[in-house]
Amino acid sequence: MSKVFGLIDCHSCYVSCERIFNPKLIGRPVVVLSNNDGAVVARSDEVKRMGVKMGTPFFEIKHLVDNGSVIACSSNYALYQDISNRVVQVIRSLVPAYEVYSIDESFIDLTGIKESELDSLCREIKSQIYKNVGMPVGVGVGRTKTLAKLNNWASKQWKAKTGSVVVILEKERQNKLLAFADVGEVWGCGSRTKKRLECMNITKAIHLAEFDKKTLRQSFNVNIERTARELQGEVCFNLEDGPEPKQNIASTRMFGKRVYELLELRQAVASYAARAAVKLRKEGQLTGCVQVFIQTSRFDDNAFSNATIIGLEAHTDDTREIIAAAQAGLTRIFRTGYPYAKAGILLSQFTPKSGYVGDLFAKPKRKNADELMRLMDRVNQLQGSGTLRFAIEPQSSSWGMKRQYLSQSYTTKWNELIKVKIG
Ligand SMILES: [Mg+2]
Repeated sequence: MSKVFGLIDCHSCYVSCERIFNPKLIGRPVVVLSNNDGAVVARSDEVKRMGVKMGTPFFEIKHLVDNGSVIACSSNYALYQDISNRVVQVIRSLVPAYEVYSIDESFIDLTGIKESELDSLCREIKSQIYKNVGMPVGVGVGRTKTLAKLNNWASKQWKAKTGSVVVILEKERQNKLLAFADVGEVWGCGSRTKKRLECMNITKAIHLAEFDKKTLRQSFNVNIERTARELQGEVCFNLEDGPEPKQNIASTRMFGKRVYELLELRQAVASYAARAAVKLRKEGQLTGCVQVFIQTSRFDDNAFSNATIIGLEAHTDDTREIIAAAQAGLTRIFRTGYPYAKAGILLSQFTPKSGYVGDLFAKPKRKNADELMRLMDRVNQLQGSGTLRFAIEPQSSSWGMKRQYLSQSYTTKWNELIKVKIG
């Protein structure tokens, strides 16, 4: 059966999150700022039309904020993550299979659904997400993930005409879009790849689709070749794989009961940091940025949430460095007296581990760090996660989820470890 994929994308995600709780921002030019370097990390359509680029330093547009023509919001990552989770909950209730790709995008697998019903299903998904969460989204649907992503780009390009839903399954129509779209709009073709492709006269998506695959593989890598095949409708990426690694890794949980003590939060955050570090190593990435957040229930009379971003001195995948950064962040944001309901970690600013050249003057890596992390991952993979862990991560916790079903003691207690007979 031919495959059908969709991509659901939150429009101006952070700005839209702010608008849910502050409707006065709707229809007005709004930017969200990163809280470490004061740059623009999200823009409303109105701001995009004013020509403000992503990543613009705040001081360059401060005069627009001062004279009232742009509204600036500081980022509230705890809120954005929570809204993102709610969007995913709606998606999960409506489609058979999905993959959370980033805080504002999810892929869905729509294979097997009647082609004539796809358009109305996507419009239903869109309106359910808006009705239940208040988040405006666009949906692109195509024969492959790469085409779904490009069709979603088209839905943004022609929002009014398409109602933010673009479903293209016929090759001829798809190729028309490929001939229109610049190659830089293709999933996985970042600015560096785009420049190199342009040197080979590949400027439009259709050029990449039709280019000799062997040459692509030889001059780039197998992922670019796969991307080109995907543009022609050949499925190379299924849910959970794609040309570029994840852009961030989140590890977050609701607590099983309210938590008041800093120590308990420290343990929780350390466990999440360790879990995120394992995922990071699996992806072969190093992180340059650790975000931490804590929050009470939104429904508490005295609701409180706080978050911060720790930039790392050197990119790392060492659990110890990530836990340390998370703890430093937690110390900064913790306030006593609140009944905390949730905490989390978000790793971002990834760079591939292979070929990473560190800053000459940065803090040197700890001795044998790679060997230790490899050993821990191996033991935990074989014996169950948590078998080897750092002292701050608790063996069992009062705040944890009701997860008795997974805490089989042979993976968490030394004296009940699996016995291996040697010889
Ligand atoms: Mg988006």
